[in-house]
Amino acid sequence: MTKFRLASRVEDLPPYPFATIDKMKQGTLSKGVDLIDLSIGDPDLPTPKHIVNAMKMAVDNPEHHHYPSYVGMYPYRESVAHWYKKRFDVALDPATEVIALIGSKEGIGHIPLAFVNHGDIVLVPSPSYPVYSVGTLFAGGEPYIMPLKEENGFLPDLKAIPEDILKRTKLMFLNYPNNPTATVASDGFFKEVIGLAAKYGIIVCHDAAYSEIYYGSDRPMSFLEVDGARDVGIEFHSLSKTYNMAGWRIGFAVGNRDVIAGLGKIKTNIDSGVFQAIQESAVVALQTEDSTISEIREIYQDRRDVLYGGIKRLGIEASLPKATFYIWARAPSGFNATTFVERLLDKAGVLVTPGVGFGVYGEGNIRFAITQPIERLREAVDRMGKAL
Ligand SMILES: *Cc1c(COP(=O)(O)O)cnc(C)c1O
Repeated sequence: MTKFRLASRVEDLPPYPFATIDKMKQGTLSKGVDLIDLSIGDPDLPTPKHIVNAMKMAVDNPEHHHYPSYVGMYPYRESVAHWYKKRFDVALDPATEVIALIGSKEGIGHIPLAFVNHGDIVLVPSPSYPVYSVGTLFAGGEPYIMPLKEENGFLPDLKAIPEDILKRTKLMFLNYPNNPTATVASDGFFKEVIGLAAKYGIIVCHDAAYSEIYYGSDRPMSFLEVDGARDVGIEFHSLSKTYNMAGWRIGFAVGNRDVIAGLGKIKTNIDSGVFQAIQESAVVALQTEDSTISEIREIYQDRRDVLYGGIKRLGIEASLPKATFYIWARAPSGFNATTFVERLLDKAGVLVTPGVGFGVYGEGNIRFAITQPIERLREAVDRMGKAL
């Protein structure tokens, strides 16, 4: 049989960071262990009923059975603009400053194809969501790593980026509230980003997938709230995390119209948009009462407090998450990220994600996802206590 060789763009990718973990997970499950999986960045809670009901109606409408618009139905883009106005007091033109995405991952993966030439630099944080660097590599760009260090509040040190790199930089990815470090960014940091981007002609791509999963009264801000942001960049959003809609595959990007148009150009050529019934349900989702989202946040907050308190008592160091449904913790001395993950899996039947999966600067850390019911988190703490 012919042996088909993968394209070098695929062959040259760093090995899939979670492949070994997947294997270990399967091994543990096959032994019949009652695994507590705290590795998944996928909400365990169901999509709110009113959204599911909207979908049931929408799917019956034959108008929605056609090819959708590439950039999204106007009513969906309008509802995104309304949501932005209400949530961030940012006014957007639905016609030119909003685009529908098949989940924000799709837009993040595709944006470098629209703007990055072979050899262009893309600034990518480490640790971070792996799609930033993979999308860059697929487009022929070179990721330049911006370390996120605890002493800098897990913000990149922009002053540490050499001038010759900045001159070759086309695009920069940022993500706050941050996966995996669970930190938020301030106005001052975004101002610094905008100054740098304007000076060097860099497109800023801010991933705000977790803007609604926060604790306390300090709501994370949108990059677009800051003066000048729209001149240099766009923001990606997801309905997956806010409305427990990860399986539905819908998100959006907003901001600079030329950047949005560039992304649209790629999409016109390789996909055909989001099923309109899903877009119609997403309109309903974006109109969800604040109280419903607050209830979801309260569930996460209770879970965070149980798990954070629990691991602290076990002597595992972590900083209290300000947002997201993750806890970024340090592997105890004597372990690296992977060996600690192995220990927790073998001895406690608890699966977490090794920080190295998010890049070299994630080494030494592990990420707990609190996407399991609170009783399971209590059980996980008990078992880890016995195992360590
Ligand atoms: C979950 C996640 C996304 C992707 O969400 P979609 O389901 O594709 O909308 C994007 N960025 C980060 C940082 C995420 O954790």
